Amino acid sequence: MGQVFTYIADDILPQYAEMRRCDWCQTESSLYRINIENSQGFSDSACINCIKTLPLRWIYPKDNERIIAQLIDQRFPKGTKSQSQRFAFTVELCDDYRRTPCLPNFIQNDDWPHCCGDFTEFIGDAGTTFTGLYNEFEWWGHQDDMAREYGIEQLIDGEDRISLFKCLHCLRKFWICQYT
Ligand SMILES: [Zn+2]
Ligand SMILES: [Zn+2]
Repeated sequence: MGQVFTYIADDILPQYAEMRRCDWCQTESSLYRINIENSQGFSDSACINCIKTLPLRWIYPKDNERIIAQLIDQRFPKGTKSQSQRFAFTVELCDDYRRTPCLPNFIQNDDWPHCCGDFTEFIGDAGTTFTGLYNEFEWWGHQDDMAREYGIEQLIDGEDRISLFKCLHCLRKFWICQYT
């Protein structure tokens, strides 16, 4: 689990940053891509501190936040938690997930893999920020997707970016391919 962002591994994080002045706090800092808007204006990046502390309602919701309640039900089967505990977990997960920077790979949407009732941790791009073995990774996506047939090794030198994830609970690993 990332200490800075729960769903991004700490060791690869700096490679997705850009040194610039943060539109929100005006300090020169490592900025990450995230869409934030308030009555004063809009910016598509922010520093870590602002991402963590600006009001949640200013941050654009991610496409798949609607599955969060299902994830909580999956993690805590019926009868194991009270309604108010469930609500608290849902709010916490939503907060954590929305405050996760948008990956540069995720151009079209945020199909962030999930497992064991939680979102998984992004551990890198195949061939660039991740250079380990690929045999443990399972395809995440439609079963009839061409990318699945090609496999990571075949796609790695192409134009499409391959993002790798690890479950924070059972350690299953997943890969997705984002067409550019
Ligand atoms: Zn800032
Ligand atoms: Zn899992």
